[in-house]
Amino acid sequence: MDAPFVRKTARSAQMYREAARWIPGGVTANIKYFAPYPIVMDSASGAYLYDVDGNQYIDYNLCYGALILGHGDQRIIAAINDTFSQIGTTIFGTPHPLEAEMARVLVDLYPGIEKVRFTNSGLEATLLAIRLAMAWTGRKKLAKFEGHYHGSYDQVLISVTSQKRKREQRPVKTLDSLALPDYYAENTVVLPFNEWDQTEEILHQHRHEIAAVIMEPVQGGFIPPDETFLKRLRELTHQYGIVLIFDEVKTGFRTGLSGAQGLYGVIPDLTALGKVLGGGFPVGAVGGRGEMMEICSPAGGVDILTTEQRQPSLGQGQPLFHSGTYNGHPVVLTAGLATIQTLQESGVYPQLEANTTQLRKGMEEILNRYGIASQTIGVGSIFNLVLSDQPVRRIQDVLESNLSLRRKLDTHLLNQGVFIKPLNRFSLSTAHTAEVIDETLERLELAVKSLVRK
Ligand code: PMP
Repeated sequence: MDAPFVRKTARSAQMYREAARWIPGGVTANIKYFAPYPIVMDSASGAYLYDVDGNQYIDYNLCYGALILGHGDQRIIAAINDTFSQIGTTIFGTPHPLEAEMARVLVDLYPGIEKVRFTNSGLEATLLAIRLAMAWTGRKKLAKFEGHYHGSYDQVLISVTSQKRKREQRPVKTLDSLALPDYYAENTVVLPFNEWDQTEEILHQHRHEIAAVIMEPVQGGFIPPDETFLKRLRELTHQYGIVLIFDEVKTGFRTGLSGAQGLYGVIPDLTALGKVLGGGFPVGAVGGRGEMMEICSPAGGVDILTTEQRQPSLGQGQPLFHSGTYNGHPVVLTAGLATIQTLQESGVYPQLEANTTQLRKGMEEILNRYGIASQTIGVGSIFNLVLSDQPVRRIQDVLESNLSLRRKLDTHLLNQGVFIKPLNRFSLSTAHTAEVIDETLERLELAVKSLVRK
């Protein structure tokens, strides 16, 4: 166990042990855990987090990328206060004007979105998208990519973790939780990201059974797709009548206002959004082709589709079921709209990306200077630090890098007041100004010095 870490975080350790008496593993989501114990936070402001021991950290986790404006942005807080004072309640449980307002904003921004439904998390969004695709096509199988995460439910907890493998080997099907029903393993086809020949072959083999291909267009928010990969996938899925779902929970509003589909000019049939969309509150949304989305309409459901729109699989009457007590929560939509309005101001994305570049270059320069083979890889304001000098195109390239050194470096970063979850990506916010980046690089240099001294 790292002695400085333990010395600095004694109260976290104690609170963690206490929490573990009442909460399995002391965490309310498995992802929040890291060894020897996660740091317990007390407050936050802008780019900074403060833990229960009084340590200050520059936050590069930002709630797994959700907080694109940083912590406690005043525009979000003011908008929420205004909404509360106007509406006089916390939630209506009926339609209200913000729902249509946010839906219209998403339709304007995302080329693949004509109609929208809201959910309370990214997982619910991908789940609804998959159900829509299954109903639309009348097929049973789901194709997903190795290493892509779509939420914590049975159908997609397959091959989320990746295995080391040679390029010619096919990705293996792994089950990422206990108690996943065999049905899902049997009806899931696993594809290799950025490897077109294999992807094409596997899709061809199962072309009559696959309802949807679901993918993170930028794997893990940091491995970009090869230039032609997304385009070919779009063409092939179209040809085979397979619904293409972009899970833009991470890339939405991160790779620009129109997500990865805007950046790469490839339009999916359905899009899942989350994270940034809620301005730090629980949210998800599914948007997509009007006729496909319309099958969950209770006002006639499938029956309101024209003969040309209707798929043979859809039958008569019964709409596709989608519900949720808290869907379209007014406070969540207020926070999301305030976030999007801020992002729409001119110069916000260029500045965010310039600051990200400054940090990436600075990190690479410092690590090189200390003789540590490294590179940063990412898109927009999210990137990862990979300790290897080989090109990174597949998750296997990350698995082949020096992960044990990276883990050590991450502990030294925590000790120096740079917060990331060990081995995780770095996300930036508008609160990460050029001064904050300079401060980060100073802390990184101290972390690297103490790392190489050991
Ligand atoms: N899809 C992607 C690409 C994600 O990154 C995540 C969350 N990390 C999800 C889906 C699930 O979202 P949530 O945690 O809100 O359920």
